[in-house]
Amino acid sequence: MMNNKKLIIGSHVQVSGEGMLVKAVEDTISYGANTFMFYTGAPQNSQRKPISSFRIEEAKKLMKNNGIDIDNVIVHAPYIINLANKNSPDNFASKFLIQEIDRVSKIGCRYLVLHPGSHVGAGVEEGLKTIVKNLNFVFENDNSNVIILIETMAGKGTELGKNFGEIKYILDNVEKKDRLGVCIDSCHLNDAGYDVSNFDSVLDEFDKIVGVDKIKAVHINDSKNVKGAAKDRHENFGFGELGFETLIKIVYNPRLIDAPKILETPWVEDLPPYKLEIEMIRNKKFNENMKKELLNLQGK
Ligand SMILES: [Zn+2]
Repeated sequence: MMNNKKLIIGSHVQVSGEGMLVKAVEDTISYGANTFMFYTGAPQNSQRKPISSFRIEEAKKLMKNNGIDIDNVIVHAPYIINLANKNSPDNFASKFLIQEIDRVSKIGCRYLVLHPGSHVGAGVEEGLKTIVKNLNFVFENDNSNVIILIETMAGKGTELGKNFGEIKYILDNVEKKDRLGVCIDSCHLNDAGYDVSNFDSVLDEFDKIVGVDKIKAVHINDSKNVKGAAKDRHENFGFGELGFETLIKIVYNPRLIDAPKILETPWVEDLPPYKLEIEMIRNKKFNENMKKELLNLQGK
């Protein structure tokens, strides 16, 4: 059977400088992508520019003229938000998340990816309960229709969301269930111990425990580490432990065809690899000289 659905593919892009969202869309177009993911500011801090500086309307026009559907554009919440930490001073994490959702809603995006958090010593159960409590607080104080996508994690340190049971616990226990979905990450799944070379069986397991229909976005990253390493270090597409064929099968899996695929692969020196990676993905052909070609293109 022919599959006429178009691949939705893009990468992480920066929203900064004068260009803000307009520059993000321009970069996306230059990569041959049809979606993108961005942080509303630096991922490691809470300083944010006023929403009026994002150049939203210009960016939307540019998206429209270039076949980029804003419903497929993903926002990533900053890492500093740790909803699993019981001792977050003055409930900082939840309050910052509420502001972040407001920004996402004003920009007009549908999905906000969130790392579930780290229990920092309190234990898995306590950590999961704290996440649920904080998400309930967030949704009580926010009436937008932004959907939070809980990301599957590598299990580094005391990270939660490293197995499907932990994801299920969060989705089952938050009151406003229609406000939650899941973002899977191929590197994190591998590092957490899932055998992604047999991706359909990983999806079967996810489907049994959580439900494949909950997966609304996919982070497509290779991994620098072997299965079960609990490390979370991304590698360029096809250059890591997962390898090209395994990643291509994930990208084109018919059960995830509607979910945007987002590359968060590392830059090569100071150059974004996304144009060449997306080319490989569209051609379904590994380019082992990708990194060299990238440096040559830029005259390095
Ligand atoms: Zn993430």
